[in-house]
Amino acid sequence: MRYNMKAGFIGLGAMGRPMAKRLRAAGFDLAVFDLSAEAVAEMAALGAVPKDNPSLVAEVSDVVCTSLPNSAILRSVILGEGGVLKSLRPGSLIIDLSSVEPQVSRQLAEAARDKGSAMIDAPVSGGVSGAESGALTIMVGASDDEFEKARPVLNHLGQKIYHVGGVGSGQAIKLVNNLLLGVNMAAASEALTLGAKLGLNPDAMLDIISQSSGSSYAVTAKAKNFIVKGNFAPGFAVDLQYKDLGLAISTAQSLSVPLPIGTLAQQIFEIAKARGQGREDISSVVKFYEELAHTEVRSKS
Ligand code: NAD
Repeated sequence: MRYNMKAGFIGLGAMGRPMAKRLRAAGFDLAVFDLSAEAVAEMAALGAVPKDNPSLVAEVSDVVCTSLPNSAILRSVILGEGGVLKSLRPGSLIIDLSSVEPQVSRQLAEAARDKGSAMIDAPVSGGVSGAESGALTIMVGASDDEFEKARPVLNHLGQKIYHVGGVGSGQAIKLVNNLLLGVNMAAASEALTLGAKLGLNPDAMLDIISQSSGSSYAVTAKAKNFIVKGNFAPGFAVDLQYKDLGLAISTAQSLSVPLPIGTLAQQIFEIAKARGQGREDISSVVKFYEELAHTEVRSKS
């Protein structure tokens, strides 16, 4: 199938590349840009058209997707010299799939509006495997019209697509969710280490907590599939969780909302980073607790 809509994709990393591949496989004409020549070459081999900067992607696209590491890079790709807004045609749409602060999404959307185009936030959850299989959860901040316009693209990337509210609201729910994930992961690591020190069998401990009031995704998915198996390959990396806790903290500060537990959880991830675990799964924060308690939360079977 071919689409009337021409698409562009900027940021072909762990998440962006599989998403761009899905759009290409679905029949979109696709212009691409990334600082990594290797990522661009891989997409070119699939028929995507490499461009030398974001502006040249925008020039030929009705819809431009971005999947970039952080707010500063997103800003420069959208507003900078050779940026998307230099040449985005009026009526075009930018779909930002990165995780950034809601206020950044709103500022950039306003800059796009000033050019007669639009930018929406569509952060994702589901990791690299979700990006590969098109099974992401996507949280969209957009007007009704913008949401409908983005749907033909988003339908190829995610299975659960939520229109949360106006611009910025996709980022808002994403940061609330990931604040809770970070806090729960640190708390589960702490509690399970105590359980191991008390001599509880880790497998039995997880079975019981999973069916009890202490349960969370950190217990049912992370402890079960990572911690007790001693497997800390991501998954969802410590560096990204740390970044997402930072997004929640800086946003909360701007609104004078205290986040004492979130701030403490960020420090637990800071410790994991300092120990060289930035690229390991978030469940690896348990290692720090285990060392302090001289025990391990590992399966006995
Ligand atoms: P990544 O670091 O793997 O990829 C980022 C890509 O952006 C890289 O290919 C890099 O070369 C490129 N890039 C950097 N600066 C650039 C620039 N100025 N111009 C063009 N390209 C540039 O990151 P990722 O894991 O793919 O994450 C992308 C976004 O998705 C982040 O905001 C992240 O928080 C979010 N996210 C990631 C996951 C995950 O599991 N990896 C899950 C949900 C959300």
